[in-house]
Amino acid sequence: MATLDPHLQSIYEVVLRRNHGEQEFHQAVFEVFESLAPVVRKHPEYADNQVLERLCEPERQVIFRVPWVNDAGEVEINRGFRVEYSSVLGPFKGGLRFHPSVNLGIIKFLGFEQIFKNALTGLPIGGGKGGSDFDPKGRSEREIMAFCQSFMTELYRHIGEYTDVPAGDIGVGGREIGYLFGQYKRITNRYESSVLTGKGLGWGGSRVRKEATGYGTVFFADEMLRARGDSLDGKRVAVSGSGNVAIYAAEKAQELGGTVVACSDSGGFVIDSAGLDVTLLKHVKEVRRERISAYAAQRGSATYVAGGSVWDVDCDVALPCATQNELGEDAAIRLIKNGVTLVAEGANMPATPSAIRALLGAGVLFAPGKAANAGGVATSALEMQQNASRDSWTSEYTEARLGTIMRGIHERCAGAADEFGSPGNYVVGANTSSFVQIADAIIALGVI
Ligand code: GLU
Repeated sequence: MATLDPHLQSIYEVVLRRNHGEQEFHQAVFEVFESLAPVVRKHPEYADNQVLERLCEPERQVIFRVPWVNDAGEVEINRGFRVEYSSVLGPFKGGLRFHPSVNLGIIKFLGFEQIFKNALTGLPIGGGKGGSDFDPKGRSEREIMAFCQSFMTELYRHIGEYTDVPAGDIGVGGREIGYLFGQYKRITNRYESSVLTGKGLGWGGSRVRKEATGYGTVFFADEMLRARGDSLDGKRVAVSGSGNVAIYAAEKAQELGGTVVACSDSGGFVIDSAGLDVTLLKHVKEVRRERISAYAAQRGSATYVAGGSVWDVDCDVALPCATQNELGEDAAIRLIKNGVTLVAEGANMPATPSAIRALLGAGVLFAPGKAANAGGVATSALEMQQNASRDSWTSEYTEARLGTIMRGIHERCAGAADEFGSPGNYVVGANTSSFVQIADAIIALGVI
């Protein structure tokens, strides 16, 4: 376990006391604090202005009851959350996650990460996150709609295009955003397009938003390789997960010459020696909403392995695109043994702290999620731009903007890693460059 510098440690201890039992939140704060010693040495004004103490306390945390009626006519009660973490750089911005594991600590860790990620995009968006412990798996269309409508019946009073702009995350895709947007529109009698992002293309959505998180992760990985005179061409890529991020990371990795040899879901993983058939994967997951075992059953070159870990598969590049803490130290050691050269996080905090230490220690290139997966929220900000100007951009233009943003993030991370004495360390680069931007804004806006 790493140690912190004494000033940071004392602030971290207050975070532990104040946020009892919120493990993932502690982990996210610790990971940022680990990078900050050289920053607080260089900028004594941050300590003088209690910047860190202020940043560790969300501006607002909303918890609410979500009652709804299931198909059997029974009332079900879920818990809804919206943590409006920081609005120093712009309106709160971040997704909604519907998953049974959701609790306040998870939403706070995601909200905390989001502040830094959003700062890295260079676009004017603050950080927030929300969601519910509702499990959409196995629910009918009507149940999903009823839940979304009830969720929005409370959430609407907290959000707005200048206040807080939610989007999707695990369990919340285009369908859910549609029901949420419809209910917001009905309650407020306003067609306020940029109150939510990730909308459908026919009603205010942006081209490339759906693809953006996965594409952006691969653009970032490609940039890391290019900076070292290498490329994705000919690389074997393993992806974890098979949701929105994983599907589009796989698609772009193959477009750039990689072969995606594996993906997974919570039940097991698929090895596809010929490289994933992304069109089939999309059909199985997005149209039929089935498990990846159904993909393997229809694809001759693929084998489904129930249980086990996708990180056992030999690969040059690993893209964890499932969920937090899915890649632990043992998996990292196996990946290193199998010759992995690059790991880029498509999900939020998928690698544990000890996994990251093992990877960095072995000289593996490692991109933290707040840099590598920022393409999703960046394209959400592009969706807000299109909504504000009542415009709709082409795919080519939007993807080019995404590419420019990801290259900018890479440049900022690499530059800050050099400046703060850890060349090539993207964890330090991402944390320090975004922190300086946020800290300067906190001081500039006064004690609020
Ligand atoms: N949930 C995504 C993330 O983790 C996207 C957020 C957004 O588009 O606002 O960044």
